[in-house]
Amino acid sequence: ITSWAHIPQGPPDAILGVTEAFKKDSHPKKMNLGVGAYRDDAGKPYVLNAVQKAEKKIVEDKLNKEYLPITGLPSFTKEAATLAYGADSEPLQEGRIAITQSISGTGGLRIAGEFLSRFYPHNKKIYLPIPTWGNHNAVFKSSGLETEQYRYFKKSTNGLDFEGFLEDIQNAPRNSIFMIHACAHNPTGVDPTPAQWDELSKVIKGRGHFPLFDMAYQGFASGDTNHDAYAIRKFVADGHRIALTQSFAKNMGLYGERVGTFSIISESLKEKAAIESQIKLIIRPMYSNPPINGARIVSYVLSDPALYKEWLGEVKLMADRIITMRNKLKYHLVEDFGSKYSWDHITNQIGMFCYSGLNPEQVDRLIKEYHVYLTKDGRISIAGISSSNVKYLAEAIHEVTR
Ligand code: PLP
Repeated sequence: ITSWAHIPQGPPDAILGVTEAFKKDSHPKKMNLGVGAYRDDAGKPYVLNAVQKAEKKIVEDKLNKEYLPITGLPSFTKEAATLAYGADSEPLQEGRIAITQSISGTGGLRIAGEFLSRFYPHNKKIYLPIPTWGNHNAVFKSSGLETEQYRYFKKSTNGLDFEGFLEDIQNAPRNSIFMIHACAHNPTGVDPTPAQWDELSKVIKGRGHFPLFDMAYQGFASGDTNHDAYAIRKFVADGHRIALTQSFAKNMGLYGERVGTFSIISESLKEKAAIESQIKLIIRPMYSNPPINGARIVSYVLSDPALYKEWLGEVKLMADRIITMRNKLKYHLVEDFGSKYSWDHITNQIGMFCYSGLNPEQVDRLIKEYHVYLTKDGRISIAGISSSNVKYLAEAIHEVTR
């Protein structure tokens, strides 16, 4: 009989571990600020109305369940590309964007990693921000790329380390791969301003680097899908031939449906055809072809003017609730509890997360004394806060930082 006794126990997932500990706690005031999923003001998961209506139509249309093509549902990838790049995008209009459906954002990144690992003509090393989403490093290493880091976050200001970022772009060997969060950077909630994006585009181009954008939160950051696409559209307008991954987990609340894309801009239709043929060769032995349901939902929502409008309203509603919670948290800390610290970064940061600046000891006290669960790096999922517990959270943070 084969023995598996030589296999060592792997470490638990840092974020899912927080939820495990939260579930075991029976305190009535417990809060879970670990998960990266939207909750409504009653703390409940939210299925968007636009999504429910699309699902109803899908059932009514009695569609079959045949396999999708390897690169997914064409009506979905077409709409998704338009949402990201903009209808007036030159490479989109010229049909030069190679795109495939992916198993949400993570799957898109995995295809991106595999594609670059096989075909990137320069150094197969990918630069990631410090810090970044916990899974980036593992995804790219599993794809056979080497990972390297660039400066992004400045602890002293809880904001962007713009000078450090620029320096690291300058110092990286020419033609390096840079993975960049397109908006609502996870875990810091810190994004460059439009003027800073303009500068980044110029400097990255000057060094011949290749930008891969991870856009997991389009619309979720500001409430406006065009505003959140500023970086990628600016880079494309400046002539970068970028690669992009998209996720519809957060902005359409389709977490478990696993729907996203990977796309890359090519120079010509011939080049695009070759790229697409290779993307198919990557996907076929991995999972053959993608799931159909989530892609159908997204394509119904994006292609129906009424549903599209309703969706934009709901994206804004989610983003606005998060912004309101940021304002309330800061207000209670400063005005009600008289905290001596500047909490401006709570409202300056954007998207689902606040990189609070709390140290591991303070996080420990929040968990043990206040039943408030979050990751050790002090990242707070704002979506886990509601009107009924924001003051309690402010008091707890004030107590552990005073
Ligand atoms: N990229 C970033 C920055 C994320 O925060 C996430 C999810 O938290 C993802 C990608 C991938 O998410 P999913 O695979 O659920 O689309």
